[in-house]
Amino acid sequence: MSKPIDVEYTYSDKTIVIAGSVMGYLYSQRQLEPSTHERGGLLFGKEIKPYSIKINHVISIKPKKSSPTFRETDLKEEKKQIKNEEKKGFHLMGFWHTHPEKSPSPSPLDQDNTTKIFTNSDHDMPLLAVIIVGEKNIDDFFIGVVSEKGIMKAKRRR
Ligand SMILES: [Zn+2]
Repeated sequence: MSKPIDVEYTYSDKTIVIAGSVMGYLYSQRQLEPSTHERGGLLFGKEIKPYSIKINHVISIKPKKSSPTFRETDLKEEKKQIKNEEKKGFHLMGFWHTHPEKSPSPSPLDQDNTTKIFTNSDHDMPLLAVIIVGEKNIDDFFIGVVSEKGIMKAKRRR
């Protein structure tokens, strides 16, 4: 695969830019074997703006429990890593995980969990992104925006 380029997605008046290096990392984390467990982690960036975010840093978090179709987030570990990244000047910009699907979309559990995190956590982000990494190409990954209503699918702009 050639070096991935920055991609841009929009939902309503919001814009999400994802650095090519982040897309490249996520591509490398795809679940390609039936035995591969779901993977996931956090997305970070440096600038906080009300209507747009740029994600240029990504980390994996070891889950509490996982299977090929399930992953329980380790909230304590997540909190620790968010603090760690904040020391380096990075702000939480969203969440990512894998699905063993060609065109992934959020499960009812994803909708539930993400909405809970958005409403309950003390993040200062006006906008958070969700990326679900599928089995195929970057173009088929699910990119969404988290709101009180749940995860809303964003559209590719470039
Ligand atoms: Zn999921």
